[in-house]
Amino acid sequence: MNPLLDFSGLPRFDAILPDHVTPAIRQLLTENRALIERLVGAATPASWDDFVQPMLDAGERMSRAWGIVGHLHSVNDVPSWREAYNGMLPEVSSFYAELGQNLALFAKYKALSEAAEFKTLSAARRRIIENELRDFRLSGAELPEDKKPRFKEIQEELSALGAKFSENLLDATNAHAEMVDNEAELAGLPDDVKAAARQAAEKDNQPGWKLTLHGPSIGPVLDFAENRDLRARMYRAYATRAAEFAGPTGSVDWDNGPLIDRLLALRAEEALMLGYANFAEVSLAPKMADTPAQVAKFLRDLASKARPFAEKDRTELSVFANKELGLAELEAWDRSWASEKLKQARYSFSDKDVKQYFPEPKVIQGLFRVIETLFAVKVAPDTAPVWNPDVRFYRIERDGALVGQFYLDLYARDTKRGGAWMDEAITRRQLLNPAGGQKGGIQTPVAYLNCNFPAPVGAGENMRPATFSHDDVITLFHECGHGLHHLLTQVDELPVSGIHGVEWDAVELPSQFMENFCWEWDVLQGMTAHADTGESLPRILYDKMIAAKNFQSGLQTLRQVELGLFDLLLHSEFVPGAGQSVLDLVAQVRREVAVFTPPEWNRFPNSFSHIFGGGYAAGYYSYKWAEVLSADAYEAFEEASRKTGSTLDAATGERFWREILAVGGSRPALDSFTAFRGRAPSPDALLRHSGMAVAA
Ligand SMILES: [Zn+2]
Repeated sequence: MNPLLDFSGLPRFDAILPDHVTPAIRQLLTENRALIERLVGAATPASWDDFVQPMLDAGERMSRAWGIVGHLHSVNDVPSWREAYNGMLPEVSSFYAELGQNLALFAKYKALSEAAEFKTLSAARRRIIENELRDFRLSGAELPEDKKPRFKEIQEELSALGAKFSENLLDATNAHAEMVDNEAELAGLPDDVKAAARQAAEKDNQPGWKLTLHGPSIGPVLDFAENRDLRARMYRAYATRAAEFAGPTGSVDWDNGPLIDRLLALRAEEALMLGYANFAEVSLAPKMADTPAQVAKFLRDLASKARPFAEKDRTELSVFANKELGLAELEAWDRSWASEKLKQARYSFSDKDVKQYFPEPKVIQGLFRVIETLFAVKVAPDTAPVWNPDVRFYRIERDGALVGQFYLDLYARDTKRGGAWMDEAITRRQLLNPAGGQKGGIQTPVAYLNCNFPAPVGAGENMRPATFSHDDVITLFHECGHGLHHLLTQVDELPVSGIHGVEWDAVELPSQFMENFCWEWDVLQGMTAHADTGESLPRILYDKMIAAKNFQSGLQTLRQVELGLFDLLLHSEFVPGAGQSVLDLVAQVRREVAVFTPPEWNRFPNSFSHIFGGGYAAGYYSYKWAEVLSADAYEAFEEASRKTGSTLDAATGERFWREILAVGGSRPALDSFTAFRGRAPSPDALLRHSGMAVAA
């Protein structure tokens, strides 16, 4: 039997080979297609048991098998697995595209939503059907036949424009480089950045150093280069990428301006066809935020509260630059550099020193203690077939009963995709008893937690545990938050279980929530031990870490609000082709929000790929939105700590589990938040956590 088709338990990583992929996935595709064809036929009643349940069962087999293949491609990207994955990717993608366009399926869901049975279904099941209908509607399923071709045309042009936007930006980014032949001109740059610049020049068979507009090069130049002219030249090149006057030879080949106008016009047309007033309403339809006005109010409220702190940050920086750095005028290309100098002068500490306090075993033990105390569970080592000998496997139990299991793959490897992420292997659901249609047991969830941390050095008796940076520890807690959302769910229906069906702008709540514990003094005491002395983190270092975390948080908050508000207004109040230009709107938002105004020739919209080349249109606000939710949720634990002495409060943890983690996507995120907090979200906790407490 093909082990990829064995759904009786955990993935069989000891038996699954690349050769299993094509036959298994093809078989599942055939099975799914045949089933769907039968289900949409007139002979199948539009009921949950006859229609939805068989769809879900077949869909789960498909996503579980393909999920294992995708996982192995991410964590074991050797040629054979890459080939197996890429070989089936087009067939799998086109299957899912077909599913989204299948109007017979839409009709069947619609019939069920109108049948008498619908009102008798559980809230979770009704939500599953409503989500399906919403997604079909948003992809144009309900348009009159004569409008459909135009809608399809718009979709195709939008995706071509988005791709072209990103291509232009990449070409423009690649087109500019600074060749430096005198090392003195690189003064201030960290050694690794210089080494990379040297390597880049060598690759071009050039002497000297090559600086580029890619993040790992331009970032350190603006932060650290002492040479003001170099910073100014590179800032200008960076801020005018894909602008109308900044083609490779002064030509306009890569101008993203006209693409932006066209994208906005098409998005507005699409929104009108779907019956919405503007594209922001389309974007918000599946999100937690209700209306563009609500999001605008949220952003403006945040801006007005952060403004006094941002103004203080600005004054502090200007005075410092003037007195200590001899800069009469703080130009756009001076700000990061001067800020780094100021930060160094005020809160200097070395990340290397901090790292010595976070040896891996102590961190993992500390993380598990947080989870065990908050949720009254046990995290214990468990066994399962794994894809690499370094991977560990654990089980979470409550009162002796299994709640969920997870793989922990901590270390970086050549064959592993970068970054950190949580993924699901198995999702919780109620199993049906195949014999009689009666309820069977519960299928408990299983998660993959993947990081790219340094591995221990040495072997055997000489092995020294890996030490993590504080950022690594935060990343680990973040991914664990996603993991807990998946693992602690109590929902019985797969499409709204765990993170399934959770609104896009609320999905980061549990992950960002968990990060807070990494800044808690008593938690840190329990999860630090110096690699040589065994001492826990000293208070003086902790205080500096907190101060550095909150450095210029007023300015940073306003910058995020500026981007979010520009994106939102562009897709709601702005009317394409009605006189006001995109740059006028940028200027208007800056007058309202920003405390620093960039040069008039700055063309940041031309490189704002989140909203023009990616999926963030009218959604950029969600970064701050999720931060507000998570900080406000965490405040409940701070309130408890005033009585109990610790934020690791089990009673509040129980409530957080019950109202937020347990319910997953089975009800609106706002209802879950309100049930937990007893009120609507407020930005005050986030402001306070960032050092912007409003004096009482
Ligand atoms: Zn996340």
